Amino acid sequence: MKKITLSGGFHNARRITLHVKDEKMSEGQYKRLDKHMCGVDRCICGWRGYDLEGIDRATFSEMVMNVSYPMQQKTWR
Ligand SMILES: [Zn+2]
Repeated sequence: MKKITLSGGFHNARRITLHVKDEKMSEGQYKRLDKHMCGVDRCICGWRGYDLEGIDRATFSEMVMNVSYPMQQKTWR
């Protein structure tokens, strides 16, 4: 398990902690994170400028892409 903490960002969100297994984020975790970092409908901030602890940014971005991309594909169809 890897402990990841995010805070700050475009909307100055409070700290949120996630525990991920094998560097994989579940859809539920992503939704929770997305809502926490940006609960604004149709906002395009993409959680800009957040602080990240416990993981490097490249790995984290990849993890977010891996979970969010298939979800977006579903929504767009
Ligand atoms: Zn936003």
